[in-house]
Amino acid sequence: MVFVFICPANSGRLSPSSHHARRVQEPSDAVPTPPPRPPDLTPAQAAKTRATETRVIETHSQQAAPAPDAACTHAMSSKRLVAELVSPVIGPDQCGIAAPLKLSAIILANGARIPVEPISLVRCDFAEAFADWVREDLEPLAQISGGGLTKILGSDGYECRSRNRVVGAIISEHAAGDALDLRGFTLHGGRTLLIASVSEDPGFMTQVRDKSCARFTTVLGPGSDGYHQTHMHVDRKVRRNGYRVCQWKMG
Ligand SMILES: [Zn+2]
Repeated sequence: MVFVFICPANSGRLSPSSHHARRVQEPSDAVPTPPPRPPDLTPAQAAKTRATETRVIETHSQQAAPAPDAACTHAMSSKRLVAELVSPVIGPDQCGIAAPLKLSAIILANGARIPVEPISLVRCDFAEAFADWVREDLEPLAQISGGGLTKILGSDGYECRSRNRVVGAIISEHAAGDALDLRGFTLHGGRTLLIASVSEDPGFMTQVRDKSCARFTTVLGPGSDGYHQTHMHVDRKVRRNGYRVCQWKMG
């Protein structure tokens, strides 16, 4: 099991000032001079400095380690998915995932691994619900239409943004890692069924929609709101009185 620290913004980038700092530190022929020797500390001052350094190191190590989470433990031991546990995503603002993983494949009942491309960052409990949908709903439909699944074509998992990226709109379930967007599915023999091309196999897509709407609380597809013409969105947003959204027009 590998733990990776996620930095959601500007990961690995250098700011203009740090870039400048890097340039002025490039090797030169000049002989480096040692830094000036700090003034001697009294024993009490030295002990206080060491204590401060220790506290800082402990704090960083606590932040880097993923917290134990029952949903993640259950998902990773379920043998229903292939994923990598990662550290909590914290902010900005309301965005973040307390218990995330990077989902790379679903394992079917026969042991076949169905890649999810690209790898998606989602909540552990969402990943397990998604795996159930693939195994129990999607794969049987794919068996009827073309011998079964070989690949799931995704697009967005976690993303800190408003709904449909509309400025001022309420925050998206993607910002909680509780949603996935899918572009289509590849079946045995290389046949790919895209959400954007419902007419290719309307019977399959109608069943995909109906099964999705029974399992997820939000399903949006072509014909819903103008933002989902080329992909389907599923999430598990909890609404008052159990209200659900299922909007996807076939043809
Ligand atoms: Zn979406």
